[in-house]
Amino acid sequence: MGKEHFFLELEPPEERLRHAPHVVIVGGGFAGVRACKALASSEVRITLIDKRNFNLFQPLLYQVATGLVSKADVATPLRQLVGSQFNVQVLLGEVTQLNPEAKQILFNGKAFDYDYLVLATGSGSTYFGHEEWRSFAPPMKILEHAEEIRRRLLMAMEQAEQMPDPNSRQFLQTVVIVGAGPTGCEMAGAVSELMRNAMRREFKQLDPNKTKIYLIDPGERVLRAMPETLSESARTTLESLGVEMIFKGRVQSMQPGEVIISSPNGDRCLQAATVIWTAGVRPSHLGRNLAKSIGCELDKRGRVVVEPDFSIAEHPEIRVVGDLCCYTHTANGNPLPGMAGPASQAGGFVGKDIAALISNSSRPKFNWFDFGSMAVLDRVAAVADLRGFKFSGGIGWMFWALAHLAFMPNPENRITLLFKWLVAVVSQQRSSMLLTGMPSQHLNVDAPDAHFPMLSGQGPSIAEPDAALKAAINYYSRTISGVTHQPMDPKDGSEEDSTAAIK
Ligand SMILES: Cc1cc2nc3c(=O)[nH]c(=O)nc-3n(C[C@H](O)[C@H](O)[C@H](O)COP(=O)(O)OP(=O)(O)OC[C@H]3O[C@@H](n4cnc5c(N)ncnc54)[C@H](O)[C@@H]3O)c2cc1C
Repeated sequence: MGKEHFFLELEPPEERLRHAPHVVIVGGGFAGVRACKALASSEVRITLIDKRNFNLFQPLLYQVATGLVSKADVATPLRQLVGSQFNVQVLLGEVTQLNPEAKQILFNGKAFDYDYLVLATGSGSTYFGHEEWRSFAPPMKILEHAEEIRRRLLMAMEQAEQMPDPNSRQFLQTVVIVGAGPTGCEMAGAVSELMRNAMRREFKQLDPNKTKIYLIDPGERVLRAMPETLSESARTTLESLGVEMIFKGRVQSMQPGEVIISSPNGDRCLQAATVIWTAGVRPSHLGRNLAKSIGCELDKRGRVVVEPDFSIAEHPEIRVVGDLCCYTHTANGNPLPGMAGPASQAGGFVGKDIAALISNSSRPKFNWFDFGSMAVLDRVAAVADLRGFKFSGGIGWMFWALAHLAFMPNPENRITLLFKWLVAVVSQQRSSMLLTGMPSQHLNVDAPDAHFPMLSGQGPSIAEPDAALKAAINYYSRTISGVTHQPMDPKDGSEEDSTAAIK
């Protein structure tokens, strides 16, 4: 790597910090931002690097995917969160490589030095070796995923409204969700609310009661990490919302419009216009990169195994926190769960620990406080396990709402969210139902295939379904007799945009 000295070609946040120890934090998620804030009064120079310019509140992504709130309600610009901190410089870019022996990172094509490195790059989604399923069944990890899912759901409903054949309408009103963890269950409840209730009066031909939602899981119950009583309560609520659960079910194959599931009762073929994947999590690639360069230990999921202070053996200057780390120094020896609470607490601890090391004061000890877990299932129903106290229904929802508002880092978003939730509770209205294309569809307005009404009649229209839905509708036309509509050319849709959105 060509060496640049210590970001010195960039101005330091404050002149007096020019020679202060340099802490590089990679990832401005739950863990990274907390680490940054914990160093707020330290004489250190912090560079916070993220490939997005915002902090994303992932627990509410499903609400973006179902039009309850908008993307700005669940994301806060990093500069707004920590940019005004005197010792922080926020940089936009992707860290692609680490060189721990030289204490350097590779960022935007250049190598930079650090004194302390905090890796908080989180996790992504995995399809367990079937990456080809990704474009049929978008995951839910980043904002673009949520927007893509919302676009698919809304477009399927628009198509159903103008489809004369009832079987085709049923196909368009069917949604398969893979994975019955918190995200899958929350998604199932919210999709039901969207397709069965929120737009009940607004569509004339589409019958909301025909909405079919399948929730598939390889286990024997939903929300397996929660106590059985709450699982049971969640199952009952979801069933009352018309969700059909398939337990001990595993996806065998997928193509547009079709998912084949194996279960103890034999294989089942589910035909659905929309498929959503909430099943697998894989840690950020920087963990493997680190293991390759210094041979540190990874657990079987690929997370970096860390010491009690979140450092790596023989590299006390490197800390790995949040979803990327495997931390087993807990009271019962179980690894910290991949959740927002542990990530924030670990980030805060690491920031304080580095501050203590730099100021030669006594170092803190990490004690994880387990708040518990919760999942919202309906407009005003949630299940919550708070340190052994179990709540469900409306009380569970109130705890869920309070906890999420408390964790939301941006006060403005707290007010907006509370307002939108209350409006939805009272009126069933959703505030973010705009069906837009992806930005690149609108850039080249003169191109014949531009999705832009200026050249009406030439090329596909923005009002047409995108490639993914066209492929699903084509599959359905081919396989089900009695359906007469013309096959659609998937190339006419926004194939590139649609695929890019779910990478
Ligand atoms: C849909 C969904 C719902 C969830 N619901 C809940 C819930 O209800 N309760 C709960 O406690 N937890 C929930 N979680 C889990 C929780 O969001 C994560 O555990 C938490 O975000 C982990 O925090 P983190 O800081 O490790 O990573 P993240 O918050 O994911 O942040 C990682 C950051 O690193 C950046 N980054 C990644 N790679 C690079 C790179 N190479 N260079 C630069 N920047 C990079 C990313 O852009 C991102 O900003 C949910 C997760 C998802 C996806």
